[in-house]
Amino acid sequence: MSEGPDAMIRAVRRDFRDVAARTGIPSLDARVEMALRAVPRDVFVLPEDRGHAWDNRALRIDCDQSISQPFVVALMTQLLDVRPGATVLEIGTGSGYQAAVLAALGALVFSVERHLELATAAVERLARLQIGTVTVKIGDGTRGWPERAPFGHILVTAGASRLPAALLDQLGPGGRMVLPVGPPGGTQCLQLVARRSNGSLVVRDVLPVRFVPLVGGG
Ligand code: SAH
Repeated sequence: MSEGPDAMIRAVRRDFRDVAARTGIPSLDARVEMALRAVPRDVFVLPEDRGHAWDNRALRIDCDQSISQPFVVALMTQLLDVRPGATVLEIGTGSGYQAAVLAALGALVFSVERHLELATAAVERLARLQIGTVTVKIGDGTRGWPERAPFGHILVTAGASRLPAALLDQLGPGGRMVLPVGPPGGTQCLQLVARRSNGSLVVRDVLPVRFVPLVGGG
């Protein structure tokens, strides 16, 4: 049985410390911690998993997908470096949890999900929590959201076999993209892709992770 937000935050802090030498990030940021505390994770997990909602681990959701481990959500969010009012493109809405965390940081979120069932449930949850700053679209997220581009922040929450070209195109100057890259079904590498103001890209490997595959594109 999970103990609630305090225990989850303690576990997330521990994970940050344990991998600090590899990530270059010393600790959980206070704003990200507030966002994690503000979003009731129990609302986003399957009813039978409610007792584990605040555990620091990934859980299964519908359509054979998963809601990421809170530490990974926190790390990706922190790498994305979102300020209030920033616009974020998320690929892989899933349960809507990561989008809700970004919204709690004051971001305006555009999120794409390929499964109608997941997108519909996520929209209902976000409405119930009165989160009005997340827009969900059903479709192939590897194409991004051209009508809203360019983005200063792009977060991909499914494992890409390589950097998706359309998403790179939609990453504006000074922008940051965080995504797992690697073979589907295997271990991916969480990467931080930064576009410099002169347009060039800098890619940094952050940490090995395991995500469900990013489907489609090519
Ligand atoms: N961010 C989610 C977890 C995402 S799991 C959360 O917080 O709950 C990965 C999600 O990516 C799954 O819901 C999967 O259906 C979706 N996905 C995979 N490939 C996709 C694609 N090409 N376009 C949009 N969504 C995709």
